[in-house]
Amino acid sequence: MPELPEVETIACELQSCLIGRTITAVEIHWPRTIATPSPAEFKRRLSGQTVQGVGRRGKFLLVRLLGGATLLIHLRMSGRLLLASPESSPEKHVRVVFFLDDESVLYFQDTRKFGRMWLVDDPQLVLDKLGPEPLSDDFTLEAFARLIAKRSGRLKPLLLNQSFLAGLGNIYADEALFRARLHPCRQANSLDEAEISRLYHAIRQVLGEAITRQGTTFDGSYQRVDGSSGDFQHSLRVYQRTGEPCQNCSTAIERITLGGRGTHFCPRCQPAPQGCP
Ligand SMILES: [Zn+2]
Repeated sequence: MPELPEVETIACELQSCLIGRTITAVEIHWPRTIATPSPAEFKRRLSGQTVQGVGRRGKFLLVRLLGGATLLIHLRMSGRLLLASPESSPEKHVRVVFFLDDESVLYFQDTRKFGRMWLVDDPQLVLDKLGPEPLSDDFTLEAFARLIAKRSGRLKPLLLNQSFLAGLGNIYADEALFRARLHPCRQANSLDEAEISRLYHAIRQVLGEAITRQGTTFDGSYQRVDGSSGDFQHSLRVYQRTGEPCQNCSTAIERITLGGRGTHFCPRCQPAPQGCP
């Protein structure tokens, strides 16, 4: 599933090819992709609109239009945005098509059909429950320490909770906990000052590095706007490396299920708290 670094990569790539372009027409092949307004209204309101900006908040892409409305896109499990010509349309699973005034076409392809789009005047209506942006200047160590001290849940599910922190998913939560040398089962409010600082810096570091490497592609699940892959899969230290030796200590990486999600960690570098399997 695309997480913050993948969505950031897509947003940056769309900036260079969408800003200033006018959407001439929209085709909808899977109406449930459109969360709001109705599919007919979505097509009517978008046609003729010029793109003013492209940004990201958490795992949402934001396409701002000159008319004042914003198109929000959440890729969820398998959504992809591919910019191509009408002749090189993806063969399968195209749910929405945006035709642009320079003859290029933006395809929304989504095998699992969980991806969603919203066309709204006020994006806050969709984004209001999101927690802070982990890479923003406002997100200081002090702010993170205040947030985490109030939480009694285990670290891994907490990091996946978008109202706690926006943008992390399964890959970068596992990688950040490994870098911080914290077991995924640790209770959030049990962390001391040094552990909170390690986790804060690990989250920002791993996200920053993954953006530099254009995100993580596994099994072709995430692709860049031109259809190419990210590069961070080669730098993962625990995610999907079950049984492989830890790069720090050579102990075999383990996988457990925590909060319904596969969770990867080094049992030596990330010692388990009491009562955790
Ligand atoms: Zn280790």
